[in-house]
Amino acid sequence: MKNDRSDRSDGSDRSVGSDVGGALRPSGGYRKLHSFQVATVVYDGTVSFCERFVDKRSRLVDQMVQAARSGRQNIAEGSRASSTSSQTELRLVNVARASLDELLLDYEDFLRQRGMPTWAPESPEAVAVRNLWRAGAPNAERYSPWLDHANPAVVANALICLIHQANFLLDRQKRALEHDFVQRGGYSENLAAARIAERKRQQSEGVAQEAPTCPKCGQPMVLRTAHKGQRSGSRFWGCPRYPECLGARDYDR
Ligand SMILES: [Zn+2]
Repeated sequence: MKNDRSDRSDGSDRSVGSDVGGALRPSGGYRKLHSFQVATVVYDGTVSFCERFVDKRSRLVDQMVQAARSGRQNIAEGSRASSTSSQTELRLVNVARASLDELLLDYEDFLRQRGMPTWAPESPEAVAVRNLWRAGAPNAERYSPWLDHANPAVVANALICLIHQANFLLDRQKRALEHDFVQRGGYSENLAAARIAERKRQQSEGVAQEAPTCPKCGQPMVLRTAHKGQRSGSRFWGCPRYPECLGARDYDR
């Protein structure tokens, strides 16, 4: 059994960019995403289906091709967005899912309006199409006996099976993303957490990175807290050679 994430990442090492305890995620190689591969077969199959069986003057052609294209494109966009924002990735996966649902309705309408049969989910045909994914990465050639079939009802039903399959995979991606988001937060949240952690580290050491140099002697300065005077309690950059050198700078972070 493949792990649950294999469909939403490119299988690359998720610890890449793990300077914040693995919280920054590598971006996805969408071409290896199973959902993208299935959506590509659906897109190509839909273009071919419309050319062969739908009146070119009909608005349905545009509608179906656009929905199929949107499904595929948004999976790719979502995967590309995954390195910066799981929230964006989740939104795009939802758009892809909605587009494929629209397309599903169009195929169901096509069959119903022409009095053509729909396959039951457990019919031998539906099971045969569904099981083709086991032979490896989905590609047009493997699905050709179904998608290039002379009977439009067979092609439409096969595409319906493939859309259900893509939707199943997208739902799984959504659940993994939602889980991920709750567990670890999105990228910007992770970045904020990383900044806070770094600031705490600097404060505990009393030294900040990129310390300015002393205006009098040029030494890298250290962060100090004023203990007397008007600014008592506030922080400032002091010269490490104090009290020989009295160089100081404002600390404004
Ligand atoms: Zn100095």
